[in-house]
Amino acid sequence: HIAVIGSTNIDFVVHVARFARPGETLHVHSSTTGLGGKGANQAIAVAKLGQDVALAGWTGADMLADMARTTLEQAGVNTRWLMKDPAAGTGRAFITIDPTGENQILVDGGANMTHAAEACPLLCPVLDHATLVMMQMEMSPALVLAIARQAHARSIPVMLDPAPVPVDGLPEDLYALADILTPNERETRDLTGIEPIDEATALQAARILHARGTRTAIIKLGHRGVAYSAPDGQGFIPPFHVRAVDTVAAGDSFNAGLACALARGAVIGEAVRFAAACGALATTRPGAAQAAPDMEEVAALLDQ
Ligand code: ADP
Repeated sequence: HIAVIGSTNIDFVVHVARFARPGETLHVHSSTTGLGGKGANQAIAVAKLGQDVALAGWTGADMLADMARTTLEQAGVNTRWLMKDPAAGTGRAFITIDPTGENQILVDGGANMTHAAEACPLLCPVLDHATLVMMQMEMSPALVLAIARQAHARSIPVMLDPAPVPVDGLPEDLYALADILTPNERETRDLTGIEPIDEATALQAARILHARGTRTAIIKLGHRGVAYSAPDGQGFIPPFHVRAVDTVAAGDSFNAGLACALARGAVIGEAVRFAAACGALATTRPGAAQAAPDMEEVAALLDQ
């Protein structure tokens, strides 16, 4: 299976005519409650592509935990290693979106953030028989580092989405432990100081990441496409033309597609193209986890 180790949140999404000012109460157009968190989003996106996937991490022991687990299981994600922490609440994100698509997001990491490196042995059983492990930075950086070391020792490829970049940067050793690093534009700027706006600037940023030990750097440029630089080749995949309505979790669907293609043995250029189709399709629907495409949709876009 593909192992995902990361966050599970419940997202409270509110659509407003304009943002509230301090002290003000507004009635809103509409609101929804759904599954989010980069770990859960990536796991569901992998499951929708038909691959075996297990999510390891923590929820609280509250009502939101049951909602999260049910949604994951209905999507086909193995939750055997998704643990309940009775001392913490399930992670929550409060997302406000205005008519221009501008958003304000407040996150309570809750149970996702309460464990540091000492919890590594609790999560590592998910690595047994894993073909690849996907992680993000919505958990303690020390814990991500400890798991990456374990995976590396077992020769399991590590795909790290450095999102969000911690305030004091990524732990230095993570660059070499992550076989594949997948920053978006902002994360690339935070990590390298370079603003990636096209193939040349993205590959310039990739060279900085290589110098720190990253083997494969994949720079996601949103509607501009994606650049990749790997030991067996580098290149650029222009964006697929789609009608984007909501870019939330495009990166999570991209990473899921990349993991599935690599697990099937695709070469890097082919895997990145498959991933870009997954990311593009995720923008055509609202929401996070539920916006991920299935195999049929991806095949149809790739054939166009
Ligand atoms: P994140 O969600 O992490 O910010 P991006 O927004 O860069 O990630 O999206 C990830 C990938 O999804 C992009 O590199 C691209 O391949 C695809 N993608 C994202 N937005 C669009 C879009 N508007 N049109 C076509 N493809 C897109």
